[in-house]
Amino acid sequence: MRLLLALVAALVVCAPAAGAVPVVVIDAGHDLRANLQTEAIGPGSATRKIMDGGGTRGVVSGTTEAELNLAISLRARDLLERAGVRVVMTRTTTVGTSIGNIARASIANRAGAGLFLRVHADGAASASSRGTHTLYPALRAGWTDDIYASSRSAARIVQRELLRATGFPDRGLQAWSDFTGFNWADVPAILVEVGFMTNPNEDRALATGAMRQRVAAGLCRGALVFLRRPAAACGPA
Ligand SMILES: [Zn+2]
Repeated sequence: MRLLLALVAALVVCAPAAGAVPVVVIDAGHDLRANLQTEAIGPGSATRKIMDGGGTRGVVSGTTEAELNLAISLRARDLLERAGVRVVMTRTTTVGTSIGNIARASIANRAGAGLFLRVHADGAASASSRGTHTLYPALRAGWTDDIYASSRSAARIVQRELLRATGFPDRGLQAWSDFTGFNWADVPAILVEVGFMTNPNEDRALATGAMRQRVAAGLCRGALVFLRRPAAACGPA
């Protein structure tokens, strides 16, 4: 009996390792209101940045970036959950003041995310700026050395799937050293800029349910491929 109990205890202890349900934390960028308070850009840093400048807005659609980010994020959540992933959202409404980026990273860290997926759209002074790109944390000892390689790998995979989804020009990958939400993350972290809301064509496309669903499916596929799970559950490419 004692041996049996020991075996059961051992199985219980081992259980989470094999076949554990992966967690994706989806961070819909911004919120209804910007947050101009400041926070340290990394643990122990004297350099501070504002929590959230508020994001951009669709030049044709008039949609705020916060609304677009959330619409895509909710669709991606539904697809990932259907594929058997546990999803934690940093927000599910666009009604408040942005919580800032340390708070967003903390949600991902506490959830033990297999991927911290940050969803944004871009804006530029020039209406001709366009395309899809994906950002990941630059290498910095003590801050991102533990997540650098995995984040870069996730960025590569998700960017590839996103490009197939949007059909927008490929602006590639960029490593960022001063993103608070990256420097505080202890889990693989990327930030996608799905397109430019200041470009009329991309804004018009991103305002449609069809394109939002394609982008969500691309994010779902990218996340699952990175997590080494079958991506077919996300729907067609
Ligand atoms: Zn943004």
